[in-house]
Amino acid sequence: MGKYSIGIDLGGTKILTALVNIESGEVISSIKKKTKKDKGADKIVHKIIKSINEVLSESQKDITEIENIGIGVAGQIDRNNGVVINAPNLDCANLNLKEILEKEFNRKVLIGNDVEIATIGEMYFGAGKNKTDFVCIFVGTGIGSGIVQNGRIRYGATGTAGEIGHMIVDIGGRPCGCGGCGCLEAYASRLAIEKRIIGALKKGRKSDIQNYIVEGKPIKTSMIRKSLENNDELVTQILNEASEYLASGLASVINFYNPELIILGGGLMDAVDYFYEKSIQIAKIKSLPTPSCNIKFAKAQLGDFSGVIGAALLSKYRD
Ligand SMILES: [Zn+2]
Repeated sequence: MGKYSIGIDLGGTKILTALVNIESGEVISSIKKKTKKDKGADKIVHKIIKSINEVLSESQKDITEIENIGIGVAGQIDRNNGVVINAPNLDCANLNLKEILEKEFNRKVLIGNDVEIATIGEMYFGAGKNKTDFVCIFVGTGIGSGIVQNGRIRYGATGTAGEIGHMIVDIGGRPCGCGGCGCLEAYASRLAIEKRIIGALKKGRKSDIQNYIVEGKPIKTSMIRKSLENNDELVTQILNEASEYLASGLASVINFYNPELIILGGGLMDAVDYFYEKSIQIAKIKSLPTPSCNIKFAKAQLGDFSGVIGAALLSKYRD
């Protein structure tokens, strides 16, 4: 026996829903649904409800056996009222998810953001276990981070602390989705790396990655890894450049926050050792001697499940 909760990671392209044993961190069953085409509040709510029912039936559990439901949303949220204030990637605004889902399932519902839940997951059952001062940095479409201070997540004055993707690394540099210029995520996110590769190919550069790319489809992490393994010049050059920028961001975090550990997560970090190793190697050189002499780095350990595990633990964390 154990205690079970449902954790949901509501991202811009997919909803991952899992039934989690909150005492062991074990994922009993999970379901992934795409959100690409079905945006807007009604469709998203419908998909969440369907996913919860499916995950319950797959684990042969009744909703009464569930402690609570936790959701992490890629967007701006009101933690106290359980409202999604604005999630542009999901085409949702002012959506009271807590109220809707509590009515539907008669269980307590907690809302967090996507980086927060992934950090909580790693803190309880991943690379941050037994650590009290660390930063979790997730490199994906964008770059986000969760700051853990004395075992608690630092939310900041307006609840937006940790926006490391918008740390400015190049004044007047590349435009960023936030409306600014020269932000870290315009240089070192998975999306930025993809754009660089596609841009170079359009200009006529030759690369091994052309053998794997399917016209009109995004570049997969596995394609980048294969090209690196084949010592492809273009992909290596672009990854080296992205590592330099990411390392500048990491060095700034080390100097400014002096953490004991930096956890790096996201598909690219997980699958491409070269990117991980190169970034931390340069970060150690770029940061100040005292904070960098003790700094440890680790890869996130829970992979895709860090978010759903953390979401399921939201109640435990906030109590
Ligand atoms: Zn930005």
